[in-house]
Amino acid sequence: MTNTKKTIAIVNGTGRQAASLIRAVTAVGYGVRAQVYSTEGLVAEELAELPNVTLFEGSLLDNPVLVDTIFEGAQIAFINTNPLAGDEIKIGKALANAAKKRNIQHFIYSSMPDHSIHNPKWPSVPLWAPKFTVENYIRQLGLPATFVYAGIYTNNFTSLPYPLFCTEFLEDGSVEWRAPFHPDIKLPWLDVEHDFGPAVLQIIKDGPGKWGKGQRIALAFENLTPIQVCESFSKALDLPCDYVYDEQIEVAVSIPNGYRQQLSALEILFGHYNAPYFPGSDFQYIGRRKGSNDTVTSRNSQDSSCGKPGKLTDTARALWPGWRSIAEYFATAFVAEEEANGKTWMM
Ligand code: NAD
Repeated sequence: MTNTKKTIAIVNGTGRQAASLIRAVTAVGYGVRAQVYSTEGLVAEELAELPNVTLFEGSLLDNPVLVDTIFEGAQIAFINTNPLAGDEIKIGKALANAAKKRNIQHFIYSSMPDHSIHNPKWPSVPLWAPKFTVENYIRQLGLPATFVYAGIYTNNFTSLPYPLFCTEFLEDGSVEWRAPFHPDIKLPWLDVEHDFGPAVLQIIKDGPGKWGKGQRIALAFENLTPIQVCESFSKALDLPCDYVYDEQIEVAVSIPNGYRQQLSALEILFGHYNAPYFPGSDFQYIGRRKGSNDTVTSRNSQDSSCGKPGKLTDTARALWPGWRSIAEYFATAFVAEEEANGKTWMM
């Protein structure tokens, strides 16, 4: 290990994306200057103990001193804004301006799509579209930037009654996942804790010469239909798991302000229009059937005429070949999370 590696400015340090990255980069000698909303709690305390990590506590909204401080002496930035923190566009723009002022050499931004620009019938997803606005602002500033698009976290699955990714254990011993996604349309999946950090570490190691031209990268390691996800669950845990398409997302617990609008947009986008999770030509691929010259369009694309050869998961898998499959996630981390939540179905 060397102590001559560069320093990375990071925000929302205790979030799952940033924490995974901080663990990966500090293990190979990078320095980290990370903003956190609180220095209390298990993750913040763990991060504070890692080598060459400096944590800065405070809110990013209307806080130019803190925003500037995290970039001081840094060469690289990983920025993932968080809607819980307030006006995401304002925060994102302030961070981009500060990075520009500090001559950040490689700005990696965790973006998400605005579906409405791809089809006038598709709604903007309220917690995703602001990130796309910030992405465009970063492009206008001319920062050497990479835009990573995180797939759906496998880590979202829980048997707690949270909306959208609840694997409900029924009285007959089977498990049910009920959601508004078409049963046969593929969705991009990511184990954010296991695989996000190592993939972004490789983007950092490759550097802005390779990735700083505004590329969009899907950070998704498997592209699976809901039915395939349930098959993986069944194989991993030896439990029958059924996917049920339901155009309405049930909300049985109290949820943060604005999250109902988020769920409503997802119901329309995926339940009604079967939109691709990541729209646009950057995410359209044409695969090849094994043993045949026929091309087959990814179910994630809308128009077979403009796809690229390959698969949506190719770049992520090339960046980080040690990724964890969703089946392995269910067999290991999911069981541990469930135990930590006091569940006993695995006994
Ligand atoms: P996270 O959800 O793991 O963590 C949220 C962070 O917010 C924690 O650090 C917590 O301390 C902090 N926080 C909690 N309440 C707060 C408050 N009131 N004000 C400010 N901060 C508060 O974070 P993450 O998953 O790394 O990043 C979240 C972003 O990732 C969101 O913008 C989300 O849209 C996006 N995303 C999520 C998924 C998914 O499948 N869940 C997929 C792609 C992108």
